[in-house]
Amino acid sequence: MEVFNSRSLKPYSTFGIEAKAGLFVECNKLWQILQVLEQFNREPLLILGGGSNILFTKDVEGLVLKNELPGITAEAESDDFMLVKAGAGENWHQFVRYCIQQNWGGIENLSLIPGNVGAAPMQNIGAYGVEIKDNFYSLEALDLKTGNLRTFSAADCKFAYRESVFKRDLKNRYLITSVCFRLSRKNHQLHTEYGAIRDELKQGTTNLPDLLAISDAVIRIRQSKLPDPAKIGNAGSFFKNPVVEQKQYEQILEQYPDLVSYPAGEQKHKLAAGWLIEKAGWKGYRKGDAGVHARQALVLVNYGNASGKEILQLSQDIISDIQQKFGVILEREVNIY
Ligand code: FAD
Ligand code: NAP
Repeated sequence: MEVFNSRSLKPYSTFGIEAKAGLFVECNKLWQILQVLEQFNREPLLILGGGSNILFTKDVEGLVLKNELPGITAEAESDDFMLVKAGAGENWHQFVRYCIQQNWGGIENLSLIPGNVGAAPMQNIGAYGVEIKDNFYSLEALDLKTGNLRTFSAADCKFAYRESVFKRDLKNRYLITSVCFRLSRKNHQLHTEYGAIRDELKQGTTNLPDLLAISDAVIRIRQSKLPDPAKIGNAGSFFKNPVVEQKQYEQILEQYPDLVSYPAGEQKHKLAAGWLIEKAGWKGYRKGDAGVHARQALVLVNYGNASGKEILQLSQDIISDIQQKFGVILEREVNIY
């Protein structure tokens, strides 16, 4: 285990933005993490997974700890369900594909989401009508104040749309070490309600989709729509979809009858943030190396040498413009450092 001084974080975030870590260490064993925490007790700490949901706007003064804890284990099983635990450092997509290979169902719609297992609960990752809270069983996390391990149930995590207790009340307090999922072994509940999945499955030959067919469909859709971070820096959707009350929804709809929205509980509507940004004319916008992706307006991109501050400023300009045009305040989804 080597601790590096003044390490560039550019290769460690999918935005590909230059920033330095005062100290940097990768740990693949729990004892290493405990040792590092003891050694650098007084340093501020940033925990990093795959770096696919973070925007660096400045150097990190203290210690960056890249969590690489490995391992996938079947913890328990019944005729119908499996409890499967994965180390925080496991690659999320590889974990999903491994579960599909075993015919364990529930997370197939979350195929090809970048990043690691340990960060998945942070924002209750979701796609195509499924969120991890739907198949979550528990997680273990290290209390950075006391050094004790604590088990969190789903209720403890306070999952919500792209939210959890780890982004709010317990921000920076815990390092997630492993996550346990409850996955189906038979009678899988398949989610094909999103139009894109239905359309993609129609192209295939199977009449009855299975876990693999859904995963493959999601992969094809994502590869056709989303920018590949290996080619162009980005962190996926930069903003959350805003949820508005009935009255505001009707006002916007009156002015924009083509508004894209979905019911979100009683008298509430989820507006497609990508539609709002596109309608406001930002799709394909570029200033210097900071831009709005040409195929998906929800994704901000780094064409090469944009700084974190430039991307942040662009996001602020978009927030102000959307507020002015639609009266809706967009919230950032990406973690700003
Ligand atoms: P990082 O970016 O490394 O970290 C994210 C945050 O979690 C940081 O605040 C970090 O400090 C903290 N953190 C990381 N690991 C731990 C840990 N073990 N313990 C405590 N804190 C930790 N997200 C979705 O929800 N749905 C999508 O469909 C989706 N699609 C994407 C597509 C693309 C092309 C990209 C680039 C991103 C997409 N994302 C999506 C966002 C991102 O992939 C997820 O949020 C992912 O879970 C982030 O994982 P990570 O390991 O890269 O986290
Ligand atoms: P899309 O299919 O073009 O749909 C646009 C928006 O409409 C999505 O944000 C989605 O909300 C919503 N939507 C579509 N069909 C819906 C339905 N049947 N019921 C409820 N809401 C519906 O979106 P996309 O950009 O290509 O993304 C596809 C999926 O991958 C989405 O679920 C999206 O969240 C996820 N994704 C997330 C990220 C990220 O970084 N967070 C990046 C890429 C893709 P939801 O977002 O609430 O699902």
